[in-house]
Amino acid sequence: MVGASLAGLSAARSLRRQGFDGRLVVIGDELHRPYDRPPLSKEFLAGTLGEADLALETDDEDLRAQWLLGARATGLDRAERAVRLADGREVRADGIVIATGAVARTLPGSGSLAGVHTLRTLDDARALREELASGGRLVVIGGGFIGAEVASTAHALGLDVTIVEAAPTPLAGPIGAAMGGIVSTLHGDHGVRLLCGVGVKGLRGDERSGTRVSPDGARGRVDAVLLEDGRSISADIVVVGVGARPCVEWLEGSGVELDNGVKCGADGRTSLAGVVAVGDCANWYDPRAGAHRRVEHWTGARERPDAAVATLLAGGAVEPGVPRPPYFWSDQYGVKIQFAGYAAAADSVAIEAGTADDRDVLAVYRRAGVPVAVLGMNQPRLFTRWRKQLAAAGS
Ligand SMILES: Cc1cc2nc3c(=O)[nH]c(=O)nc-3n(C[C@H](O)[C@H](O)[C@H](O)COP(=O)(O)OP(=O)(O)OC[C@H]3O[C@@H](n4cnc5c(N)ncnc54)[C@H](O)[C@@H]3O)c2cc1C
Repeated sequence: MVGASLAGLSAARSLRRQGFDGRLVVIGDELHRPYDRPPLSKEFLAGTLGEADLALETDDEDLRAQWLLGARATGLDRAERAVRLADGREVRADGIVIATGAVARTLPGSGSLAGVHTLRTLDDARALREELASGGRLVVIGGGFIGAEVASTAHALGLDVTIVEAAPTPLAGPIGAAMGGIVSTLHGDHGVRLLCGVGVKGLRGDERSGTRVSPDGARGRVDAVLLEDGRSISADIVVVGVGARPCVEWLEGSGVELDNGVKCGADGRTSLAGVVAVGDCANWYDPRAGAHRRVEHWTGARERPDAAVATLLAGGAVEPGVPRPPYFWSDQYGVKIQFAGYAAAADSVAIEAGTADDRDVLAVYRRAGVPVAVLGMNQPRLFTRWRKQLAAAGS
């Protein structure tokens, strides 16, 4: 198992559940045992959950695995079917599960400025939580899930928050611009400034000796976000939430086909026999979409390893089933947003229950009249019913 987080742990559990009794080695480059990431932008950042609450393993769980933590995989030797580690060790295996997830994208040149954060790991969340405690002006670049959740949490902590989003609305990609408009009003209602349709040119750093603008070698502490339209937004803290890229560089030249992550069949098989990939790094073929889709959501990383492990144990001789439509949730300003399916596949969207004004919407996305996705805001029961219908219909 390469990657000791949700998808790697889920695959290890699936292996034992499906009867694998052999040696199991879990390799992870973080020093931590598997922990849950969704609370990092929500309760953990808010200070209402502690680190112990993030553990993904249960106290009495024993997977009889050897854990190599703080160990980075740097290569995969196809002939030996071995994983090479940065410290020179090599782990040979009969089967390999790739579960190396994704890493936060950054803005070019922003890394050397103090006060600029990304949020992917527990260490990132610790650092951001500490800075938010001093209050001040926070600018969030990117109105996707992580940016929007950080904005919501920071606002509740009393910070002055601005979001800058290049798309016309927050979450325009995953839920479409029409419903994204409702999310826009959610931010506005709470006094969070939302600047949409404008890109970021760079960050300004405040050095005692003067002011420099990234990406030209900025140093010092961030003091403003510079927009492409010429405006500059003062900032004490900046969170860059501009998406994530799959951690697959270590597989280059290994024979594992890469294309927006690890290119996989509908059951996680890769281009190499005995090697499967799961979670955020895996670009699975989705028979519903008739295309490959890399899904960066918790539920896929939790559920899909079952099928990938079955494929691995059967030597590839199982027929892949149709996975459930991708699903995610997001918590913002006390509103639970849930979504299943693909918004981009739809040619229409209609609110079927609730009202946008009350933020308790159930909206159904259709293509040629057939439901292909569903969105819920504070509508958990109705949403669950629709989600089941989508899965049953094979949409
Ligand atoms: C702040 C935050 C909030 C989120 N909130 C939600 C939410 O509300 N709802 C939702 O559906 N999803 C949410 N997600 C997404 C969800 O957490 C991910 O989909 C899930 O963590 C993916 O699990 P994974 O195991 O595939 O990848 P990861 O969790 O990224 O784990 C991959 C692991 O592999 C390690 N690794 C990488 N490269 C190597 C290497 N070369 N060698 C060894 N180890 C390596 C990484 O360090 C990491 O520990 C959130 C994510 C974040 C970051």
